[in-house]
Amino acid sequence: MTAGSDIAQRLQLLQDEFAHQLPGKIEHLDTAWSEIKCGNLSLLPILHRQAHSLTGAGATFGFIELSRASRALEHALQALLAAGAGLNEAQHSHIGKLVQHVHESTKLAPSAGMINMLNTEDTPARASPQHEDARLIYLIEDDVLLAEHLSTQISHFGYTVRTFYNTKEARDYIQQKSPAAIITDITFADDEKAGIESMLSLRQEGYALPPLIFISSRKDFLTRLEAIRAEGQAYFTKPVDIGGLIDKLDQLTSTARPEPFRVLIVEDTALLAAVYAQTLQQAGMVTRQVSDPMQVMETLDDFSPELILMDINMPGASGEEVARVLRQQEIHVSVPIVFLSGETDKGRQLAAMGHGGDDFLVKPIQPAHLIASVTSRIERYRVLRNFMVRDSLTGLLNHTKTKEQLDIEIERARRQNRPLSFAMIDLDHFKRVNDTYGHPIGDKVLKSLARLLQQRLRKVDVIGRYGGEEFAVILSDTSGPDAVRTLDSIRKDLAQIRQHGEKTEFSVTFSCGVASYPDFATSETINNAADKALYRAKHDGRNRVVLAAYKLNQKD
Ligand code: GH3
Ligand code: MG
Ligand code: MG
Ligand code: MG
Repeated sequence: MTAGSDIAQRLQLLQDEFAHQLPGKIEHLDTAWSEIKCGNLSLLPILHRQAHSLTGAGATFGFIELSRASRALEHALQALLAAGAGLNEAQHSHIGKLVQHVHESTKLAPSAGMINMLNTEDTPARASPQHEDARLIYLIEDDVLLAEHLSTQISHFGYTVRTFYNTKEARDYIQQKSPAAIITDITFADDEKAGIESMLSLRQEGYALPPLIFISSRKDFLTRLEAIRAEGQAYFTKPVDIGGLIDKLDQLTSTARPEPFRVLIVEDTALLAAVYAQTLQQAGMVTRQVSDPMQVMETLDDFSPELILMDINMPGASGEEVARVLRQQEIHVSVPIVFLSGETDKGRQLAAMGHGGDDFLVKPIQPAHLIASVTSRIERYRVLRNFMVRDSLTGLLNHTKTKEQLDIEIERARRQNRPLSFAMIDLDHFKRVNDTYGHPIGDKVLKSLARLLQQRLRKVDVIGRYGGEEFAVILSDTSGPDAVRTLDSIRKDLAQIRQHGEKTEFSVTFSCGVASYPDFATSETINNAADKALYRAKHDGRNRVVLAAYKLNQKD
């Protein structure tokens, strides 16, 4: 079964379950209301809480009308509670009507929006970006529906969630197999602070726990303090802000696994190249060897190294010459070049540095020296590069860099005679999101789309922030129809993600235009075609993915 249909099925089950529980909930609401009508005002807070819970759950499970009706009731009760007085006749009849509305709203089927988003078609599974265990999350939460809701939302971001409804069962599992992170509720039916206590006792028994996140409706200082003492790395109050939670998970689970350094070794003596490669690989780096300097440029595009170890004396072209050729091309200006040579002639070393080398290592090279030198260079390179090529809000490639990558990828597609797709994504009515919820919430939405793209696309795909609320994706070795399928499944997932405003939840959609190589054979034509397809998607009603037709190209 594919991930998409699996999620859809789980959502459908949840929605069914909620619908199943609904009559019972409404009955409780009725009971409370008839007691209040008889003068038992002490039940007002309970009725308020019931309305509040229907508001939230109704919206979560697609019962939009129910959610609206309960919200009206909730607000009216809130005002009453704040006033602290009894109910006069007018208020009596007003609340009575609102309760009646809640009743009627339960007869309406869940909104079309929810039904549509449940019809997720099967989509080809994409390679998961990381090893499964590195994405395994244990969720301990005794509110079954909330647990399922959280687990479904978290799964959208590429995590595998295993849910436990009590701390005992979770403890057994944690002892057997440690996940990448634990998210636990604090209060359980059997114990007020079971979540904190169970984690503390595991630590006291000597288990090294992975990053730990508490979620709770408790907001008091003491509970937070106890959570800190159990070494909780984050604390979210309910309703849990999914975006914030995913940010935290990303941050806590990724630090353990930085991307390995990528080093290109240009050296004509195969044996030496093998020794360097071996040394660097043992230090956890990824290497590629090139023995013919003429092959360097091609390998750069394929391998995108973060450092080049370059021999100086090679047949065909010297290391200095290769460096000069690279430095004349803007996209290769910044990659560090470290020269390797038996040369002891200071003058030649300095000349090589003058031609764009960053460092000079003299053979024979001590392994420790080689590793240290390469490591510090690449670390610095990563910091600088981040400033130059990444968008600071989303961490995606910026516009310039994305366009450069498009040139590179199209060249590669041409060489390898493989297809390629380029997609432009634009959030729908994003101005309204800003206007309604504020700019900072808008920023969070942009980040959530960025993360969703990162999680759902393959490592080799290039993802950029093209402009304000516009993103671009390059899918190598992917035909137009395949790209449309992938992006359409991401589109459906985005619509399912609950974005959190200050007070309310909402969801957003995007429109997308896709154009592919070889129908469009240059970065300019493919860019224009995708842009036009995006315009069509907007024009045809938004929230859709449109593939640029080949004849569009010939007409223009
Ligand atoms: P359409 O469906 O036609 O694309 O409508 P739209 O409202 O998304 O399009 P429009 O181009 O009119 O508005 C884009 C909005 O995106 C306006 C701008 O305030 C917002 N925006 C652009 N960059 C950012 C950003 O970095 N953060 C936030 N919060 N909003 C941004
Ligand atoms: Mg040599
Ligand atoms: Mg726009
Ligand atoms: Mg827009």
